[in-house]
Amino acid sequence: MRRVKRELDRLGVLLRTDVAGASLTTFGSGGEAAVVAYPKSVSELKALLLFFEKEGVRYRVLGAGSNVLFPDEGYRGVILRLDSLNAFSVVGSSVTVGAGLPMPVFARKCREARLSGAEYAEGIPGKIGGAVCMNAAAFGMGVSDSLRSVDILLDGEKMTLPSSALKMEYHRGGIPAGALVLSAVFDLQEGEEGHIAEKMRELARKRAATQPFGRSAGSVFRRVGEKPAALYIEETGLKGRVVGGAELSTKHCNFIVNRGGAKTEDFFVLAEEVRRAVKERTGVTLEYETERILC
Ligand SMILES: Cc1cc2nc3c(=O)[nH]c(=O)nc-3n(C[C@H](O)[C@H](O)[C@H](O)COP(=O)(O)OP(=O)(O)OC[C@H]3O[C@@H](n4cnc5c(N)ncnc54)[C@H](O)[C@@H]3O)c2cc1C
Repeated sequence: MRRVKRELDRLGVLLRTDVAGASLTTFGSGGEAAVVAYPKSVSELKALLLFFEKEGVRYRVLGAGSNVLFPDEGYRGVILRLDSLNAFSVVGSSVTVGAGLPMPVFARKCREARLSGAEYAEGIPGKIGGAVCMNAAAFGMGVSDSLRSVDILLDGEKMTLPSSALKMEYHRGGIPAGALVLSAVFDLQEGEEGHIAEKMRELARKRAATQPFGRSAGSVFRRVGEKPAALYIEETGLKGRVVGGAELSTKHCNFIVNRGGAKTEDFFVLAEEVRRAVKERTGVTLEYETERILC
């Protein structure tokens, strides 16, 4: 890793070392990341990736870490954060947004620009890059409703893909494997700021009424067809079950919350218990929505 740090310094890339994994994800578990790198531009990112490829350095890009669990053993490669690629610009009713912009900021900026269609983003704690990869959605609105195109970096080449070229489906953005999302263009509709603000407040009220506060990774399991996973979990009677620092939320049983000091292992031991119970009662195998990063 010393060699990697030297090269990052030489390239002028902002970096942090021995970073607590807990600070890189919303669930807040896991060991240390040896290096976290924050490229300031696409050209800096390209230079970094070239070096990683040449030297066989492992890396992983993370947004806000709101859909992932960090390994308890730590991560010995480089975590890439594209926070600096956070530009926001408007032309007519289209907006171009950098991968590093947080979803709630995206929603607010669209409201200020009197553009409707991004209200759902306010309560999603991810960033644009992660949201495009996950085809994030809430209360019947989502990324795929307004995404026009996405700029990606793949095999060292920057390219633009129209959304029609992506196989977007429920919580899957269809981004090619190994590609990094740099920015996205959304086609929105002109609206009235007061109406947009009211819609955002309404969605925030719904979220507060149905989802737990505190640290989580959002929904643990994917929907089963059109049926929410929570309906299956409800029947197991496991609501409130605790493993180490992880608790199956009593408010929304497809959420696991960190009661303090939870390990990633606690999360998955509990989640596996839920999966087994659902399988035994209904024959359905729940599929994970939350992703486990391997060390
Ligand atoms: C309290 C809470 C509520 C939530 N509510 C919702 C909801 O209503 N709807 C919903 O859809 N989701 C929800 N989520 C889940 C999560 O916020 C979304 O999936 C979000 O889009 C993930 O974005 P992120 O930036 O945190 O991605 P991360 O978790 O950091 O990454 C997710 C995946 O995308 C990859 N990735 C991230 N950025 C890039 C990039 N620039 N290029 C290539 N790959 C990248 C990562 O490697 C990883 O595989 C919720 C989560 C929490 C904690």
